[in-house]
Amino acid sequence: MVTTHNLGFPRIGAQRELKFALESYWKGQSSRAALQQVGQQLRQQHWADQAALDWAPVGDFSFYDQVLDMSFTLGHLPERVRGHEGDVLDNYFRVARGRSAPADPGAGHAACCAGVAAGEMTKWFDTNYHYIVPEFTATTTFQLDASRLLAQWAEARAQGVKAKPVLIGPVTYLALGKAKDGSDRLALLERLLPVYAQLLDTLAAQGAEWVQIDEPILVTELDADWQHAFNTAYHHLKSAKVKLLLASYFGSLQENAYLAANLPVAGLHVDAINDRDGVRPLINLLPAHKVLSLGVVNGRNIWKTDLNATLDWLEPLAEQLGPRLWIAPSCSLLHVPVDLASEQKLDADILSWLAFARQKLAELQLLAQALNHGRASVREALDANRAALAARRASTRVHRPEVQLAVSKITRDLGQRETPYPQRAPKQAALLRLPKFPTTTIGSFPQTAEIRRARSDFKAGRLDAAGYQAAMRAEIERAVREQEALGLDVLVHGEAERNDMVEYFGEQLDGYAFSQFGWVQSYGSRCVKPPILFGDIRRPQPMTVAWTTYAQSLTDKPMKGMLTGPVTILNWSFVRDDQPRSVSCLQLALAIRQEVLDLERAGVRVIQIDEAALREGLPLRRAQWPVYLDWAVESFRVAANGVRDETQIHTHMCYSEFNDIMAAIADMDADVITIETSRSDMELLDAFDDFRYPNEIGPGVYDIHSPNIPTEQHMVALMKKAAERVPAERLWVNPDCGLKTRQWPEVIPALTHLVAAAKTLRAEC
Ligand code: GLN
Ligand code: ZN
Repeated sequence: MVTTHNLGFPRIGAQRELKFALESYWKGQSSRAALQQVGQQLRQQHWADQAALDWAPVGDFSFYDQVLDMSFTLGHLPERVRGHEGDVLDNYFRVARGRSAPADPGAGHAACCAGVAAGEMTKWFDTNYHYIVPEFTATTTFQLDASRLLAQWAEARAQGVKAKPVLIGPVTYLALGKAKDGSDRLALLERLLPVYAQLLDTLAAQGAEWVQIDEPILVTELDADWQHAFNTAYHHLKSAKVKLLLASYFGSLQENAYLAANLPVAGLHVDAINDRDGVRPLINLLPAHKVLSLGVVNGRNIWKTDLNATLDWLEPLAEQLGPRLWIAPSCSLLHVPVDLASEQKLDADILSWLAFARQKLAELQLLAQALNHGRASVREALDANRAALAARRASTRVHRPEVQLAVSKITRDLGQRETPYPQRAPKQAALLRLPKFPTTTIGSFPQTAEIRRARSDFKAGRLDAAGYQAAMRAEIERAVREQEALGLDVLVHGEAERNDMVEYFGEQLDGYAFSQFGWVQSYGSRCVKPPILFGDIRRPQPMTVAWTTYAQSLTDKPMKGMLTGPVTILNWSFVRDDQPRSVSCLQLALAIRQEVLDLERAGVRVIQIDEAALREGLPLRRAQWPVYLDWAVESFRVAANGVRDETQIHTHMCYSEFNDIMAAIADMDADVITIETSRSDMELLDAFDDFRYPNEIGPGVYDIHSPNIPTEQHMVALMKKAAERVPAERLWVNPDCGLKTRQWPEVIPALTHLVAAAKTLRAEC
């Protein structure tokens, strides 16, 4: 008999109940007890959803972040929040979100009421989820606090759940953290392991039989020290009185397969979606007493599993492994929306191709049923699955021969500018006639309450198209007038009409669909609703030309056309799984290319193509980076580089780590790149020094993530640092990112200082 289990369930709630409960608690509008109650109801609901499984996870629920939960369990809090005497949950939120200091904490309150910096956040492997980074120093110590886990365990048991506690493993935990003092994190392993051992014993004493211990860093390249750490850790833990299921996911074990197979644990979970080919060799390595859990339902996307094909592959394995075979989703379902049944508006075809978390668990159940009792026992469901997949394969909405033909005709020439930068730059300069240190912004201006109201009124049918257009035009005019008054050199229309930089384009492209409730947690209470790229991409008509030309008609200054690049659109969507991502990306590139050429034809002289998420798409293993970068850069080039020499292409990226991908960034061959640097004090510009980045650069000097208004002097000083690394003739002056989350009263003085800074620089450099 095959055993079924799940690695984790989304905790935000099918209707984002947790988000709303958290935000209301944080605003002081509801009590801690009310929040706790929502948490409990969600856990109970989620266990009920998983009732058919042989093992359901416990401890996967989190009020903010599972890594922060683990830090609390290990008694490992940042120095700055220790000794806090209030409620534990409040202290937990202080680490998660930080707390600003009141203007005047009052005498004697400096210690308890001073501000607390939020923990740093970073991406959880290659997902869009962000965790709170554990902070280590050479003197870090650990002390068990199993209270959260035990409370959830007791709840699960009271509900009659066959529960399997879920922990982040010690090696991954250390790997996810940062040593604040530059010390060696691995040196802490010795101190960490006794706490893990104690935790496992505690769980055993409560009756836990299996514990899932997540070590996803097993799918990344590990050097000898980290490999050794795995051996040390699991030999230390092998005397625990629970059975350990070591879980790897998000990729393939490859050279770590031998290590993973031979650690002294009772079972191993692997991602059989990403690495089906690795499973058979792994079975040969696996000691005969061990359970092998195969992740056979994709936990990272929203497509139905091909159940019949999966069974074709699984049946012989089930025969071979017998009761040692477990099956599960490939990873925690945290990364998919909760329930497809909530969707009222998706069209029936597309709906029939999808599976969210609840549906994925039902698929798992069907697979188990078929393995345990024969396919005939679930014949109807298997036939329905086959029919849905066949309809998808045959759908003319998915497959558009003309798009496939266009992609097949892409040659390297298509992504090639007419002449190299040194030849085309003077032509652009002659046309644009910009001063030295030209000023611009990244695209969006504040999304005011009026803008949001007009958009929601329009969507709800309370405002007609003409009324909506008039409202947006008024906002564009306002943005243009403000920019002229500020004296900026290259203007933008302000993006008032865009709800989101990806959704806006997805909504206008054939091949995209949108869910109503397809929310996925990004961090804390923040969720994103990725659009669904289901078919070949076609641009039926221009998407931005009318707004941009209207904006240009209001001013003599150059107006930047503003587009989102193909790689970013791809990386922020749920992407079809029936062709390589590179093909979908090139299709998007062709659609954006048409838009670029239409903008150029309409007289737009500067076009910015944002690639905010290019870096995010990097594979976990460095060995795979070149392949990704190759098609990602090619896609950008196809989108951008069909223009004449005189047209200036900008791109924007919301980060400043370029050292390791500089060659690829330079290869995109944008005339100007604007990046985020203001918080790193320009140090990160090192990657862009004279020899490595050949074109123009706008290092952000205004940190738009903060309400602070930077002074002219501050920005001048930052730009002077930049000028030490990049010739002044190639520098632009601009903010870090778009201004949509800021308010006009912040933006006006900040940009006034920015323009003044540029003037000072022109005089002094
Ligand atoms: N043009 C976009 C804006 O200004 C860029 C946003 C981003 O890079 N995330 O809002
Ligand atoms: Zn940005």
